[in-house]
Amino acid sequence: MSDVVIVGASLAGLRAAEELRIRGFAGRITLLGDEPDTPYDRPPLSKQVLGGAWSVDRTALTVAGADGLDGLGLDLRLGVRATGLDLAARTLTVEGAAGDGDGGDPRSEALAFDGLVIATGCAARRLPGTDGIAGVHVLRTLADCTALRAALGQGARRVVVVGGGFIGAEVAATCRGLGLEVTLVEALPVPLGRVLRDEIGAVLADLHREHGVDVRLGVGVDGLDTAPHRPSSPGGHADAGEHVRAVRLADGTTIDADLVVVGIGVVPATGWLEGSGVRLDNGVVCDETTLAAPGVVAAGDVARWPSARAGGIVRVEHWDNAIAMGQHAAGRLLAELGEPGGAVEAYDPVPWFWSDQYDRKIQLAGHPVGADELRVVDGSTEERRFVALYRRGDALAAVLAMNRPRPVVTYRGLLERGATWSEALDAAGVS
Ligand code: FAD
Repeated sequence: MSDVVIVGASLAGLRAAEELRIRGFAGRITLLGDEPDTPYDRPPLSKQVLGGAWSVDRTALTVAGADGLDGLGLDLRLGVRATGLDLAARTLTVEGAAGDGDGGDPRSEALAFDGLVIATGCAARRLPGTDGIAGVHVLRTLADCTALRAALGQGARRVVVVGGGFIGAEVAATCRGLGLEVTLVEALPVPLGRVLRDEIGAVLADLHREHGVDVRLGVGVDGLDTAPHRPSSPGGHADAGEHVRAVRLADGTTIDADLVVVGIGVVPATGWLEGSGVRLDNGVVCDETTLAAPGVVAAGDVARWPSARAGGIVRVEHWDNAIAMGQHAAGRLLAELGEPGGAVEAYDPVPWFWSDQYDRKIQLAGHPVGADELRVVDGSTEERRFVALYRRGDALAAVLAMNRPRPVVTYRGLLERGATWSEALDAAGVS
C-alpha cells in the first residue's frame, strides 16, 4: 500500500485527501500545512468574517460523513512546513514546532512518500519596503484576517486599500459596510481591466464610488509616511517602531491613513520546490492531467497546466478550481501509483468564480482574458444588474454577471460544451 503526502492543508489539499478516500484508497495519507489552524475556507475572510457577521469557527472546511475530518483517517500535521523535496529519494524535508510542544527550536525531519500532492497555494504579495510598519496589512490567511479585524476594531477611521483586484475591492466594500472612510488606489486606468476588459472595470469602479469610496485610478503608490508608534494607535503592535500615517501616491498627492490594506496580488508558494526538479514557472507546471513529475501531482492556486479551453497554460486562483483540481489530482495520483480508483484524464473545466461587493454578487465563468468582444445581452450596466458575454474568435469565451445568478448556469453549460458565439447569442435572444 502506498504512502501519500499532501503539502498544503487548505481547500485543494483537503479535497484531494477526501477524494483519495472516496476512491477507496486505504493507505496512509499525511496532510501537512504550515498554518496552525485546521483547514478553513478563505472567501469569508474578506466578506462575512472581516465584516463581523460570522465568527471565525464558521470558516471551518467540512468533510461529508458522520465523522467529518476525523473520518478520513489522516495524519494531519499542522504548523509543519515543507522546506525541500528530493524527487529521486522520494522524501520531503519538513520543519515544524518541536514535537513535544516544549517550545524548542523547530525540528527538521525527512518524510518519505510514494505519491505527493502539491497544494501549497499562494502567498499575498507585499508592498516593498513596508515590512515591520504597523497598520499595514495583507489578507490571505485567517491570522491576517484576525489581525485586520482587530485593527479595525481599535478605532481606525481611514482605510486605504492598495490594489483594485477582487480582494482589494471586497475589503473596500466590507470596510464601507463598517462605516469607515475608504480610499481605493489602483495603478491601472481601471480595476481588473486586463482580465475583464475596461468596460467592466469601469462599472466596478463606479460601484465603489456610488458607495462612497474615494477611487483613485491610474496612479501607483510611491511610499508610506509613518509616525512613531503609539500603543493605542489602530492596528499597532507593542513592538512596532513606526505606524503608517499616510500613503504617498506617484502623482504627488498624499492620503491620510490609519490602516493600509495591500491587495496587489499573490505569488505561488513554490520556494520549497526550488532546485527539486519540479518545473516551476509562475507556479508548479503540470501536464494536462495535473501530473507535475513522476508520482507528483499539483492542484489549486499553485498549479499551472495547459488548458485547451483557454488556448494556453493557465493558473486559476478560484475556490471552485481548488476543489475540482484537488479531486482530479487525487484520481491522477492513484493511477500513477497503480492503485485502484485511478484515472488518467485531461483536466480542463470551465473556471467559475464569484465575488460579493456591497449588495452585488458578481459571477464569472470561462476565460475572459484576451477576448475579442464583450456584449451585454441582458439587463444593463447602469442598473448594476446584467449579463455580459465575451467572444474569442467565433466561440463563447466567458460570461460575467452582476446580480443575475440564473443565466450564469445556462452560459456555463454552453461554455462546457464549447458553444459558438452565435449559439450563445441565440440563447440570449439577441443577434
Ligand atoms: P490555499 O488556500 O492558498 O492553501 C495553501 C495552503 O498551503 C496554505 O494553508 C498555506 O499556508 C500552505 N502552505 C504553503 N506553503 C507551504 C509549505 N511549504 N509547507 C506546508 N504548507 C504550506 N475565490 C472565489 O472563487 N471566490 C471568492 O469570493 C474568493 N474570495 C477569497 C477571499 C480571500 C480573502 C482569499 C484569500 C481568497 C479568496 N478566493 C476566492 C480564492 C480561494 O480562496 C482560493 O482559490 C483557494 O483558497 C485556493 O486553495 P488552495 O488550497 O489551492 O490554496
